[in-house]
Amino acid sequence: MRIRFWGTRGSLAKPGPSTIRYGGNTSCVEVRAADGTLIVLDCGTGAHDLGRSLVASGERPIRGHLLLTHTHWDHIQGFPFFAPLFIPGNEWDVYAAQGLGQRLEDTLAGQMEYEYFPVTLGQLDATIRYHELSEGVFDLGAVHVTARYLNHPGLALGYRLEVGGVTMVYVTDHEPHSRHQPELTGSAQMAPVHREDQRHVEFLAGADLVIHDAQYTLEEYPSKLTWGHSPAELAVDFALAAGVKRLALFHHDPFRDDAALDRLVESCRRRAVGRGLDVFAAAEGQTIDLAERDAVAPRVAMQPKAAIAKGVEAVSATILLADDDPDIVRLLTMTLRPEGYRLLSATDGNAALEIARAERPDLLLLDWNMPGRDGLEVCRILRAESDPDLHNVPVVLLTAQVGAEDTAAGFAAGVTDYVTKPFKPTHIRSRVHAWLRRKRAGAEGR
Ligand SMILES: [Zn+2]
Ligand SMILES: [Zn+2]
Repeated sequence: MRIRFWGTRGSLAKPGPSTIRYGGNTSCVEVRAADGTLIVLDCGTGAHDLGRSLVASGERPIRGHLLLTHTHWDHIQGFPFFAPLFIPGNEWDVYAAQGLGQRLEDTLAGQMEYEYFPVTLGQLDATIRYHELSEGVFDLGAVHVTARYLNHPGLALGYRLEVGGVTMVYVTDHEPHSRHQPELTGSAQMAPVHREDQRHVEFLAGADLVIHDAQYTLEEYPSKLTWGHSPAELAVDFALAAGVKRLALFHHDPFRDDAALDRLVESCRRRAVGRGLDVFAAAEGQTIDLAERDAVAPRVAMQPKAAIAKGVEAVSATILLADDDPDIVRLLTMTLRPEGYRLLSATDGNAALEIARAERPDLLLLDWNMPGRDGLEVCRILRAESDPDLHNVPVVLLTAQVGAEDTAAGFAAGVTDYVTKPFKPTHIRSRVHAWLRRKRAGAEGR
């Protein structure tokens, strides 16, 4: 597997003398497997040079798979400038997380409306197929892909690519789920307290290379909570806990010049010293070869299956909002109503339980501190119900209780996810999407 960085910057392209070594273009990574399968991870401004390079290589037709983490600007702005899309005969499959109400194709067409761009999506000459993903697995050529929801204020997917016995994981635009991560002491590391952080470690487990969001430093992080990005030091901790071999710090902040990135790499290396993890900052133009160990016979291109969602669907989910603070209920209602959900609300624990039993919602957003029964009690009672709809319903606890022990108590009571106040509405929206998709996938799998 050959990996090449064409864009390493996050949020905004930042070309200029201060970013010349690590690069100014936004997220774009080329992956080529030994069987020839071409996968492009994200289509930020770095895609411009990648496209020129592919066209110049003389390969015809150019067939590739474009895996988008999400459709924030810094991940799609290179799309209308990606030369292979303009050549008849080329074939591209484009993948991203299925949102609600709007098709991927329409989202990408949005940035190409004539007020913004002179060429429309429909005028691209290559054959382009669009695929909407949920969490799951599928194969692209010889490459086995696992897609997993990230923690970001826009529904985003990370991708784990495995081929010929080597593994690389691409995780950008992701923030740890808990503010509390286990300290690195001794040789052993405790498991993260938040179940979603534990799943993150599992997602990275044993990878030869992880390309990880590292937009902030630990020092900057307190003022960037809920922005959906990781401090580099915690990316190191997660990679260590997951037994990763090499870690590429990625999605560099536009404020981080080359000298500052050198300092960040140094402090991350000190953090990992003696633990068998190679840490570096991804640099534009850098190539990494991971030798595929198993001989791989080129496979017939398979149409992806499990993770491919079935087009846009009408939203019919019912969500119960339970919080004794009317401002929070109002905020959640304003955030979720435009998505077309059926929303129910309660201001105390007993009412929440009654409504849950009567209405069997698809998801509960539950406050911890409420009059009557508190959120944890409500959750414990639901988990003890024999009705599977109540027993298994995803419960997202929204709480001002910020301690690590509080988070542990929440999971012990059976909550599915633990979100600390204050939160961003966009963040809640993407968590709700993720849990409803997971619930649906679980129901289809039963
Ligand atoms: Zn980004
Ligand atoms: Zn983003």
